[in-house]
Order: sequence, then C-alpha cells, then structure tokens
Amino acid sequence: MAKARIAVMPGDGIGPEVTTEAVRVLRTVGDLFGHRFEFFEEPVGGTCIDQHGVALLPESLRRVRRASALLFGAVGGPKWDDPRAPTRPEDGLLAVRKGLGVFANIRPVRVYEPLLGASPLKSPALASVDFIVVRELTGGLYFAKPKRIWESRGERRAVDTCAYSESEIERVIKVAIGLARSRRSKVTSVDKANVMATGRLWREVAMRLSKENPDVQMDHMLVDSCAMALVVRPETFDVIVTENTFGDILTDEAAVISGSMGMLPSASLGSSTLGMYEPIHGSAPDIAGKGIANPLAAILSSAMLLRHSLGLPAEARLIEQAVDEVIAEGARTADIASGGAAISTREMADTLIATVKALRAAQR
Ligand code: NAD
Repeated sequence: MAKARIAVMPGDGIGPEVTTEAVRVLRTVGDLFGHRFEFFEEPVGGTCIDQHGVALLPESLRRVRRASALLFGAVGGPKWDDPRAPTRPEDGLLAVRKGLGVFANIRPVRVYEPLLGASPLKSPALASVDFIVVRELTGGLYFAKPKRIWESRGERRAVDTCAYSESEIERVIKVAIGLARSRRSKVTSVDKANVMATGRLWREVAMRLSKENPDVQMDHMLVDSCAMALVVRPETFDVIVTENTFGDILTDEAAVISGSMGMLPSASLGSSTLGMYEPIHGSAPDIAGKGIANPLAAILSSAMLLRHSLGLPAEARLIEQAVDEVIAEGARTADIASGGAAISTREMADTLIATVKALRAAQR
C-alpha cells in the first residue's frame, strides 16, 4: 500500500474542470489498489492574482515542496492579459517550475488510431507516431538575466538573455538518454549550433554524452530542420531533447500532429521524486465554464504522476489502457468528435472511471 499527499493547483479557465476529473480518477485508482492518497489545493495564476494580488503565494510553494507530487491545471486568460500588468498568471507557473527545480519537461506524443482523422497531417505513417519530447524547463531565454524593456534615444528597447551552463545541459540530456533506453534507444538532440553560442555548447555536451553512452544512438538536428521533419516524418522520432524555447515551440507543433491538445499529458521532473504533472494545453478561455473540455490530458498526466513520482507503473498503465479503450469505443468530447456526437467533461471522466473499474476487476 502506498501513501501519498498530492498537491493540486487547478489554476484558471478549464484548469479546475479537468483537474477535478483527474483527482476523481486518482481516488478511484487509490481505492481499487488500496493506496492512501490525500489531496490539498493551492491557488495559482490569475485566480491567485484576484484573491491575493500575486500569481503564487510563497507558503503555497513551501507546502507543495513537502508533497509527493503536484497535479497542475493551467493558468492565464484574457482577464489578466494586459502586458503592462505588474504580475501575470504565467509568473506563477514559472515560479512553481523554478521553485520545485523541475528541469526536464517530458511530453509523450502519440496518435490514437481511432483519432487519425483529427490530425491535420494525412500521412499513412501517422498511426506509428510515438515519441517523447524532453524540454529543458528552468534555463535559457525564459529565465536568464538581463530581461527588460527600457527607453533609449526616443524609442523603447527590449532584451532577453539565453544562457546555459554545461551542467544544466548535461542533466536534461541524461534524462533523455535514460528514457530512450526504455524505448527504441534513439535520441535526437536539437539545437541552433550554427548561430548561437548556447547552441554550440549544447552540441558539444550532447556529443560527449553520446560517446559516453554508445548503447543509445544520438543524432543532432538544427531546430528549423526539426520543425520541418516533425511534419514530414514524425514517425521516425523516438526521444527528442532540446532547450527551453525550442521545446516550447516544437511541443506545440507535436501536439497538433496528435489531433487534439486535449489528449496530451506532461511531466516535469527534477532530481527528486517530486514531479509536476500537467496537461500540455492552456486554460482554453473559449470553452471554460461550458463543461465540454476534454479531461483526458489531465487524466493521462495523473497516470504519469503515478509512474514517475509514486513508483506505481501498474496503476499508471491501467489508466492509459482505459483511455485507449474509451477512445476505441467511441467516447468523444467535442474537440475530438470531428463534428459528431460529443459528451461532456464529466461524462468522459465517468466513462473512463467505469472502464478503469472494469479493467481492474478483469485483472483479479
Ligand atoms: P489553449 O491550449 O488554452 O487552447 C488552444 C485551443 O485548444 C482552444 O481552441 C481550446 O479550446 C482548445 N483546447 C485546449 N485544451 C482543450 C481541452 N482540454 N479540451 C478541448 N479543447 C481544448 O491555448 P491558448 O488559447 O493559446 O491559450 C489560452 C490561455 O492559456 C492563455 O492565457 C495562455 O497563456 C494560457 N496557456 C497556459 C498554459 C499553462 O498553464 N501551462 C499553456 C498554454 C497556454
């Protein structure tokens, strides 16, 4: 029997709608396997700005740091979009990532066969797309200083800084190599070594690690080539590893290949077992409050939580199998219904929970 205290930061928009369903699924799995999962909620993002004037409370971060894992919804929305606002919802998200030291963001991308039609790509090889993007999460352009806007000679100027140390690059590529070992043993390291100093350092570290780990095949791509290859031959990738900004962009491209943002989970891991788990989609303000969001990305994120933070792979697999099954049986929220009949967020979660129970009963 496992015991775990799981922090939940629902956030904004559809964040609370999908995390509520993921927590229900985790409770169900806990009951079925006799585990003791406790949950507590902390505010983050725009909701936290409205309540407390800041996007993350220091005491929330302290409490989350003592938890076994964090399930995160999404932050942001038009209400908090003023670029001159002193604090923005994303500040909360970045502060949580930095505060937990989760430097490797892992995003599995696969195409569910019954959903092939939802992908904008029409390649016959689409059904065999199955890769993971490992994105460096706490360095690079989003964090390094100086980062500011100022007035000079009658106009405004801005600067962002891209900085990486060898150790920051090394630890995230090692995560990718470790993941590749449990898959098809192939890593594609993505950089911009032709024009960026950080890119050249990235490539040197990657080449050294490749020599030190000859059982894993590594190739190197410039980010622009990789962006094209993801569209032309996505089925050829196994594990892609890249820095923060490139990873942000490539993972959205990869998400579109899969057909729906509502289907893709992510895990953010550091050097301890405390990980952060969140759907890759945002707060989807256009559908928030309507009860129609797809909860499967959040539910699949909870499966990653079971696997990576709680060491419960069988329980994780059960959730993933149940997702395969409900999709195969035709359950569809609006985003994956291709104009056909759609069920609500709650109905999708109910269907999934019933399937989890049936699969568990069949195992016994
Ligand atoms: P988005 O992912 O929120 O939405 C993009 C499109 O996908 C929308 O049409 C939306 O309705 C749809 N969609 C997303 N998730 C869905 C789901 N689970 N079920 C059904 N449809 C879904 O991206 P966006 O519109 O660019 O951003 C909206 C807000 O979210 C912005 O404020 C942005 O900054 C924020 N955002 C937050 C995160 C995060 O918290 N990690 C990530 C991305 C965007």
